[in-house]
Amino acid sequence: MFILLSGRLTWPAVAMLLDSGSPGFDALVAPGHVSTVMGPEEWRFVVDRHHLPAAVAGFTSESLLAAFYSVLRQLQSGERFLDNCYPEVAHAGGNATAIRLLNQTLDIVDANWRGIGIIPRSGYALKPHLAAHDARVQFPDHSAPDRRRAGEMPPGCDCAQVVLGKIYPNQCRLFGSACTPRHPVGPCMVSDEGACRIWWAGGMREQVMATAIE
Ligand code: SF4
Repeated sequence: MFILLSGRLTWPAVAMLLDSGSPGFDALVAPGHVSTVMGPEEWRFVVDRHHLPAAVAGFTSESLLAAFYSVLRQLQSGERFLDNCYPEVAHAGGNATAIRLLNQTLDIVDANWRGIGIIPRSGYALKPHLAAHDARVQFPDHSAPDRRRAGEMPPGCDCAQVVLGKIYPNQCRLFGSACTPRHPVGPCMVSDEGACRIWWAGGMREQVMATAIE
């Protein structure tokens, strides 16, 4: 068995955005699956270092609504805290067994985020003792210069800007014209979790003039 691992840590990307001074968001609804494994504390830096409201949400409408309500109330009241709106699954300290297995099998490495660039210590790689199963080690040709597309976006695709919260999906000039779920141009329209796909599924079918979100 060979594993082509593209695992990512999400908090360094959020930290990079916040440190940039123009994060494009006023509060964070943090992902429940990440918090279930790593513990809700993974997101405490958003409150402690950046004084933004934060709430962990699970994948139910109730949990998402609770998290939206929490961050909106925090914004209104001026109070700041890390709220856990997924307490039935996300517990303090995370999942000790999962964390132990991660530590036994994976190293944290610098990683390239498509369209964004290298974010230090934001990716996972298999540890050397698993090199026999690591496709990146066993098939080094896959990253030969003539096959490399790392960091490249399809021409005209603004996924990186969308993912960074700099523009809304329908501000991409291809949204709904060249790029639809049936004929996706960029990765954000491919996956059910992609921002462009979600906007499309939610009924946002019109393209709007591109104006940066400030
Ligand atoms: S609409 Fe398509 S081309 Fe535009 S950012 Fe989204 S995925 Fe990329």
